[in-house]
Amino acid sequence: MIPAISQTSPVQGLYLSFIDTLKSCGFEGDLSPDYANRTVLATDNSIYQVLPQGVLYPKNIDDLVKIAEVSNMRQFQGVVLSPRGGGTGTNGQSLTDGLIVDISKHMNQILEINVEEGWARVQTGVVKDQLNAAAKEHGLFFAPELSTSNRATIGGMINTDASGQGSCVYGKTRDHVLELKTVLLDGTEWVSHAMSDTELEAVKNQPNRAGQIHRVIDDINNNYRDEIEAKFPKLNRCLTGYDLAHIRDDNGNFNLNNILCGSEGTLGFIAEAKINLLKIPKYTALVNLRYSNFDACLRHASRLMAAGPTSIETVDSKVMSLAQSDIIWNTVGHFFDDDSDNELAAINLVEYTNDDEEQLKSDIKRLTDQLEGTDASNPSYGYSIAYGADVGKIWAMRKKSVGLLGKSKGEARPIPFVEDTAVPPENLADYIQEFRALLDENNLKYGMFGHVDAGVLHVRPAVDMKDPDQEPMIRDITDKVVELTDKYNGLVWGEHGKGFRSEYATTFFGDLYPQLQRIKAEFDPRNQLNPGKIATPNSGIPLIKVDEVVTRGQEDRKIPVKSWQAYQEAVYCNGNGACYNYNPNDAMCPSWKATRERIHSPKGRSSLIREWLKQLAERNIDPQVESEKAKQKSFLVSLLPRIQNTVKKQKGEYDFNHEIHTAMMGCLACKSCVGQCPINVDVPEFRSKFLELYYARYLRPLKDYFIGGLEFTIPYLAKAPWLYNAPLSLNPVKKLFAQYAGMVDSPKLSGIHLDQALAEIGVLYAVPENIATLDAEQKNTSVIIVQDAFTSFFETQFLLDALKLLKALGFNPMLAPYKANGKPLHVHGFLKQFKNVASKTADFLNGLNYSEIPLVGLEPSMTLAYRSEYKKVLGEDAPKVQLIQEWLAEQDLSDKADNFSGESFTLFGHCTEKTNAAASMKDWSKIFSDLNLAYKEESVGCCGMAGTYGHETQNVDNSKAIYALSWEPKIDQLNDTTQVMATGYSCRCQTKRLSDVEVPHPLQALLKAYQQ
Ligand SMILES: Cc1cc2nc3c(=O)[nH]c(=O)nc-3n(C[C@H](O)[C@H](O)[C@H](O)COP(=O)(O)OP(=O)(O)OC[C@H]3O[C@@H](n4cnc5c(N)ncnc54)[C@H](O)[C@@H]3O)c2cc1C
Ligand code: SF4
Ligand code: SF4
Repeated sequence: MIPAISQTSPVQGLYLSFIDTLKSCGFEGDLSPDYANRTVLATDNSIYQVLPQGVLYPKNIDDLVKIAEVSNMRQFQGVVLSPRGGGTGTNGQSLTDGLIVDISKHMNQILEINVEEGWARVQTGVVKDQLNAAAKEHGLFFAPELSTSNRATIGGMINTDASGQGSCVYGKTRDHVLELKTVLLDGTEWVSHAMSDTELEAVKNQPNRAGQIHRVIDDINNNYRDEIEAKFPKLNRCLTGYDLAHIRDDNGNFNLNNILCGSEGTLGFIAEAKINLLKIPKYTALVNLRYSNFDACLRHASRLMAAGPTSIETVDSKVMSLAQSDIIWNTVGHFFDDDSDNELAAINLVEYTNDDEEQLKSDIKRLTDQLEGTDASNPSYGYSIAYGADVGKIWAMRKKSVGLLGKSKGEARPIPFVEDTAVPPENLADYIQEFRALLDENNLKYGMFGHVDAGVLHVRPAVDMKDPDQEPMIRDITDKVVELTDKYNGLVWGEHGKGFRSEYATTFFGDLYPQLQRIKAEFDPRNQLNPGKIATPNSGIPLIKVDEVVTRGQEDRKIPVKSWQAYQEAVYCNGNGACYNYNPNDAMCPSWKATRERIHSPKGRSSLIREWLKQLAERNIDPQVESEKAKQKSFLVSLLPRIQNTVKKQKGEYDFNHEIHTAMMGCLACKSCVGQCPINVDVPEFRSKFLELYYARYLRPLKDYFIGGLEFTIPYLAKAPWLYNAPLSLNPVKKLFAQYAGMVDSPKLSGIHLDQALAEIGVLYAVPENIATLDAEQKNTSVIIVQDAFTSFFETQFLLDALKLLKALGFNPMLAPYKANGKPLHVHGFLKQFKNVASKTADFLNGLNYSEIPLVGLEPSMTLAYRSEYKKVLGEDAPKVQLIQEWLAEQDLSDKADNFSGESFTLFGHCTEKTNAAASMKDWSKIFSDLNLAYKEESVGCCGMAGTYGHETQNVDNSKAIYALSWEPKIDQLNDTTQVMATGYSCRCQTKRLSDVEVPHPLQALLKAYQQ
């Protein structure tokens, strides 16, 4: 059995006492010195991994003031702190071996939107897309763009002075900041904004830290103007990190915000921001140009700028081919397909926006006329145009690029360390040619994409950082790229800030660097805030070097190759944070959204599994060997040690396994991560492996046996449904069930006698004697419905309705005899039992193959288990079972259209289905369209039920919270004219339970719409 992991890296006494002092000062937020939180926040999206001493989650600005004041106490002046937002930095900006101050968990409220004046006031933990969703209702948006807009915070954007696509028109974050409320390290709350000279003089005269800061910065501006002018490049992506060139803004006002923007948490905690909002352009379009040569594509981009677009973005073939294998291709593929023989080596996405549709069309026509003309200098070989909502889909594909690169096969995977260089756009193609030659010389593979209009191209070379021989490349390549950017008048830190790459600042700034140090010294004289980045407070303290920090590769190489390979579904998480998606109407990831705790996200869970594998390796434990042992050990033999270990657990004995267990138990096993994570991190898979081993050491809760055994007991109970239903209707039984069996609101058996009902509607079981009676023509129209426990026993009427509809459509549906699917066993980590069930059921279903009648399932997650969980244990022996809509969409239904009528139909899709079989949603669209019925798919997140998750007592609150995020408001807004439908059994159950609304399956809705 796995050992208890009782010793991990202990928290230093200084930090424990800092945390205790905060507690006694009335800190209201969360103080988390536990190893799970420390582990999960030890990485961002950089190559580094730095274990913090703890994580502080302030609840409000007073908490930030308390942190600052306590850190100012004499005994705590050695404490270091790093503010953190979404943690999407690519250079370790928010990493620290001190305390992380995560502002995103609680301080994420939009405080005010002033529509008339066009601004918003927000807490800085607000996510950029969250703000834009709220602003959109008023026709406004926060313009600076970035690929991580669904998870990066306004605080993070301010502190990295973020910008991205569209920056040539909209500029950087600092161009949109009106006011900042910053907590300085002495506890002062300082509100900064552009100031006239009179105001500045008044502040300079204040005998406090704010006064001193203003005196010093004004002095630098007055006395070093020529040096600043000479040093700061005139680029769209000028400089982040104490932007001396903009101490005075374009109107000549003194503006401290321009120093704070891009300061990477080294000057203070920015708590609130008042930011500018712009009007959303009414019309947008993208011209998508295809090229067979990347260099030609880049060179063409600079000429295309003359056509006056809002932005131009380039993506190379590597990223495009990865996108083609991703779920996202379903939504955009048709814009890039063509039947020419050209090999797609790159694309340029040329964006136009306008409030005047005619003007927009004429701008596009000017460009397309040029492309179609005889212009010999046009190297593209084709284009498509996307308008409106399709533009967003193509941008989503482009935004996913970095994540997609992580999907590359092999151990050398693209990593960020020279990924955001900026050069004048006119130099970009030549610069990139040399850059590529440098990477080729070092035999490095890479993918490229970026903002060619601004001269920024993202390049992630593929390096296996676990290999000590490859690690020195970080230094070599970075040094050479710094030289190269210098040669082309550019910058190595073009977009994503400096972080642990700050060391190059001393050479770059030369004589100006001490002026940066003066600023740091005024804000943070003891170097407590994010030390070693951007600038240090005095010449005696060096900046941290790129190769001085612990890397993730150094930690990962401690995991034995065997374990690394056995847990592939976890270890390749590249930390890009796409799973921290804020959007409540997106499937990824409900447990994170409901809790806002990063340990409850796919990234959090994979980080914990990596650490667990490392901890096991340090104890010479091979998890695969333990898994085999666990499978072989009898229940009774293992009982006594498990009881003993559980008693120790109840007495509070520490074991890191418990922290991992908590994180795993929050997972709904909805599988959205599998489909939506760009590298397909599969939490349910490694979660079940972990649970198998955890419960080989500790006792399982009773409910696991109840849920795992349900598929086997339910056919017997269904014979006498009252025996199950009646007690479950009694309040005392319900209470006992909730308390001791850990289950609430258990669904009732339908009580329909299936055999009788089948006979009534004339449907036969798919058994050899019945199949043998079919002639060739009957076989052609036959389909075998594979039963699952939920549909057959709890929603029998749906099963019957589905069969009736299929008959009405002219098919001959047959019902496969009931077999357990085993998915609940897999979810709960009964892996041995799952394998047994899967083998038997697969044998049975494969045995029906001789009939050549298609096998089809009704319940999405159970049906998809045959191609996912089954495939993992059985390989090619996994049975081929289609989703009902996959099969139905292949049939010709057009001659039945006249039999159907109905106003409109709206589908609320099931998470697993939408994310793991993306085309299946289009299939419903085709079916309804073939039947001439108006159909739309609603964007919804998770319903919060996910099998039995929502019925487990410990999950009820989270289940309700998840439902309230997306389903509840959408169900509340239903009107009578649309027939809402849901494909998932869980979703229908949850909607009935929490909104008291009966939502039919699409097949039931179609049956209702059918007239003889
Ligand atoms: C896949 C990918 C694509 C990216 N694309 C872009 C892009 O297109 N454009 C772009 O500009 N960047 C991009 N980035 C980088 C990153 O997303 C941005 O830098 C973003 O602004 C960081 O926001 P965050 O909330 O994640 O901040 P974090 O990473 O948490 O923090 C960033 C810095 O801000 C500081 N900080 C955060 N909040 C506060 C606060 N309230 N007070 C004081 N300091 C604070 C932190 O200490 C840290 O130094 C990308 C990153 C990834 C992984
Ligand atoms: S789990 Fe996937 S989406 Fe989340 S950080 Fe890891 S790779 Fe990115
Ligand atoms: S299965 Fe669902 S709940 Fe679990 S980690 Fe993946 S997305 Fe989150």
